[in-house]
Amino acid sequence: MTTTAPPTTSVDTHCPYCALQCGMSLRGGDVQPRQFPTNAGGLCQKGWTSGALLNSPARLTTPLVRVDGELVPSSWDDALGLIARRLTRLRETSGADSVAVFGGGGLTNEKSYLLGKFARVALGTSQIDYNGRFCMSSAAAAGTRAFGLDRGMPFPVTDLAEADAVLLIGANPAETMPPFVQHLRGGELIVVDPRRTPTAELAGLHLAPAPGTDLALALGILHAVVADGHLDQSYVDSRTSGFEDMWRVVARWWPERAERVTGVSATDQRRVAARLAAARNAYILTARGTEQHARGADMVTAWINLALALGLPGRKGSGFGCITGQGNGQGGREHGQKADQLPGYRKIDDPAARDHVAGVWGVPADSLPGPGRSAYELLDALGTESGPQALMVFGSNLVVSAPRAAHVADRLASLDLLVVADLVLSETAALADVVLPVTQWAEEDGTMTNLEGRVLLRKRAVTPPAGVRTDLDVIAGLAKLLGQPDGRFPTDAETVFTELREASRGGLADYSGVSYERLRAGEALYWPVPDVGHPGTPRMFLDRFAHADGLARFVAVDHSGPAERTDDEFPLQATTGRVLQHYQSGAQTRLVDELTRAVPEVFVEVHPDTAARAGLVEGEWALVKSRRGETRARVRAVASMRPDVVFLPFHFPGAQRANLITNPALDPISRMPEFKVCAVSLSRDEED
Ligand code: SF4
Repeated sequence: MTTTAPPTTSVDTHCPYCALQCGMSLRGGDVQPRQFPTNAGGLCQKGWTSGALLNSPARLTTPLVRVDGELVPSSWDDALGLIARRLTRLRETSGADSVAVFGGGGLTNEKSYLLGKFARVALGTSQIDYNGRFCMSSAAAAGTRAFGLDRGMPFPVTDLAEADAVLLIGANPAETMPPFVQHLRGGELIVVDPRRTPTAELAGLHLAPAPGTDLALALGILHAVVADGHLDQSYVDSRTSGFEDMWRVVARWWPERAERVTGVSATDQRRVAARLAAARNAYILTARGTEQHARGADMVTAWINLALALGLPGRKGSGFGCITGQGNGQGGREHGQKADQLPGYRKIDDPAARDHVAGVWGVPADSLPGPGRSAYELLDALGTESGPQALMVFGSNLVVSAPRAAHVADRLASLDLLVVADLVLSETAALADVVLPVTQWAEEDGTMTNLEGRVLLRKRAVTPPAGVRTDLDVIAGLAKLLGQPDGRFPTDAETVFTELREASRGGLADYSGVSYERLRAGEALYWPVPDVGHPGTPRMFLDRFAHADGLARFVAVDHSGPAERTDDEFPLQATTGRVLQHYQSGAQTRLVDELTRAVPEVFVEVHPDTAARAGLVEGEWALVKSRRGETRARVRAVASMRPDVVFLPFHFPGAQRANLITNPALDPISRMPEFKVCAVSLSRDEED
């Protein structure tokens, strides 16, 4: 890779973590916040301390190869050569789909794009998916179904400040992305969350439904909107279709019935309906709490139905959106690392899409594989008779972040070949046969697409340590060893982006008018940007939705509850989430001393009465058991918790992994696992 001297002046860039992509300046490892619309000069504790990632002593600087059970240092040539030989042998003996690729929602647009191309062209495999399947897929499926297109927030985040009312469902930005909260100060905040989170503390009204009952709550509120005369009939008539079919279901969900299912009073449901209807401008926003369910796509759909009944989407100053979580959670799902998609947010089984993308890639369209397995299905199949025997992982720490984590670790361990590209020896890298040390965030150029659909240039600000390579270098190097012609897999981020623009041209997520030049000049470019003279599209759907008839769709969805029910053995419901100081699997934030000191270990929040019934007191270690396994967590007695619910953050490794207990039941549309609710028991950890 090319290296340059470290900059002597500060470089304007963006935070390495979440989808708010706060603006910051870096001089060496020193972080300073800067004015950028999403953060307006603010940073959270993660962002402020992110410079520590650049000097982490845990950093890998040489490839590692497993010899006699131990990972030992290797040269890059030997490591890449070994991977290429073993992948080639597997493909020859067992077919192209014996090799799989797993990407991540934190990878830049360029990496996401090149990884998808690498899988389909260099490996010829259909077996590629990414961790965004665990994060955004239900909201993406629901948005596509209702609006014809998924752009998480189809309006700038700064528009929220003009709202008279905002309904937040399953979102806790006061912890996950604190600078976001300043945009919610304009009007009344209503929060739906089983926990009284720091965000719920800010709300004028907090509704705490039982986990997994959000859909019934949305139906009850929607019933109240219609029955109490708040329906925006002219909007429904002019901008939507499907109301009558939807109403046939909702008509049966009077708020008193929804109260019996959710525990949220009918009075509060009617209050929400009235307040949203009375607002001049209002927004409904969802996040993982209502999305990570075995019926997550339908749950989000129910909230979209509510927004449509109130006439919010596609109206300036109002709207519906989902708050994307991972740093490039939006861009990561647009450029072809999903099992069923090609760049430009195109469907992989669409003949026109295949022709277009194959043309850009210089390969026959019929050489491109079809759709592959979704993320959990792929992991579940690893090492089985019909599943992949080799996996390459970029930007994911699956051993901590995947549901039913012990089973996933077993599947990874059963592979002929596991390759992990990472900064450090993550819990997943520790299982690998080959570990490739790669650059991070401020050590490389690349673009990210934030939660608003705005494309950002994250500039290289520091020199990477000797010995590491970019993911683009790794992909290109392997492609060459696998016989791909020179130039087909570029290593320069801007060159990759130029190709990505062509591949996206004419697609739903059209980046063809975005260029590094325009981004360097500071232009605010929200996709679609269909040509270089186009100003971008900060607000979508103002005139028409993306379906052919221009109308948004009401979709009839009904409540069915969580995939797994409580019983005498597992009488409580567990839900998982995040804390302010850690990000995703914690692979990055656990490297930062200040963050680890603040929250060093997993905890389980539990109502004091529930703790007492289990013989537990504050600070003791508890065992939380589900039908899939058990995890250890330190007890936090929290009086505001529902007595039937416990909460665990999922950032911690080993025996503290919350995902040892989570349920991989999948949404039939999005293939999203049900991270947010499973049946558990709580007891003392007798080894404590
Ligand atoms: Fe901003 Fe998110 Fe980074 Fe915090 S983690 S500074 S909210 S981008």
